[in-house]
Amino acid sequence: MKKSIITIAAAVCMAAVLTACGGSQTKTETTAAAGTETTTAGTETTAAGTETTATEAAGGKLVMVTNAEFPPYEFRENNEIVGIDADIARAIAEKLGMELEIQDMAFDSLIPAIQSGKADFAAAGMTVNEDRKKNVDFTDTYAEAAQVIIVKEDGDIVSPDDLTGKKIGVQTGTTGDIYADDIENGDIQRFNKGMEAVMSLTQGKVDAVIIDREPAKVFIKENAGLKILDEAFTEEEYAIAIKKDNWELVNKFNSAIKELKESGELQKIVDKYITAE
Ligand code: GLN
Repeated sequence: MKKSIITIAAAVCMAAVLTACGGSQTKTETTAAAGTETTTAGTETTAAGTETTATEAAGGKLVMVTNAEFPPYEFRENNEIVGIDADIARAIAEKLGMELEIQDMAFDSLIPAIQSGKADFAAAGMTVNEDRKKNVDFTDTYAEAAQVIIVKEDGDIVSPDDLTGKKIGVQTGTTGDIYADDIENGDIQRFNKGMEAVMSLTQGKVDAVIIDREPAKVFIKENAGLKILDEAFTEEEYAIAIKKDNWELVNKFNSAIKELKESGELQKIVDKYITAE
């Protein structure tokens, strides 16, 4: 009985290969191919979907990885991953006519996930730097950023120079972690989440935290008695990381980012999450 239902279903599928069944078949193929070769996925979808519109024809699924512990760029709200990067990624996927899946993981797992082909890209407030460029390609930048220093309001650290010999909290694998390494006699304490580093500062277990400016602002609002030093530790820029040598995808993303900048949509997304003081 079961077997004949499957046979009928298969026959219907074959007859209607360009309609409903064909569609779902394409989706499965696209999903499987998304991690490895997006170019191929896009082409297959176009070939199968003769009746689809131009946007749908671009088709396929993009797998994004991020670390949703980084407000206002990515965080969880009602169990959904939201934030500036998530909204930008959704807007890009929409422009490319592609589905978007977001996966949450540790920050230092993001680049390996792209390299192994588990993900197509990372949007994670990721700073462009030369070392990372050896392992991934970056899109055009979409935000100015900085590493800042959070200290106790009544502490004796007033400038980056005072960090010598201090206990410094950072998030593992971030640029804050990398730069903290250069501090003379610095005792670096690494945490999986930026918020954990900040909590350890409130508990007096570290003397300062080096972290990105916008998350720093969010974290000090949530923890009384802390402040951000006026002088930033570094100035940097964020971009989306894509698997090496997938220039086709980098170009598509860059066009989408350009459109989002020019239309003002990017600024709108930023304004939704960062309110002017
Ligand atoms: N901008 C920092 C970096 O790229 C931190 C990013 C993050 O923690 N999500 O290393």
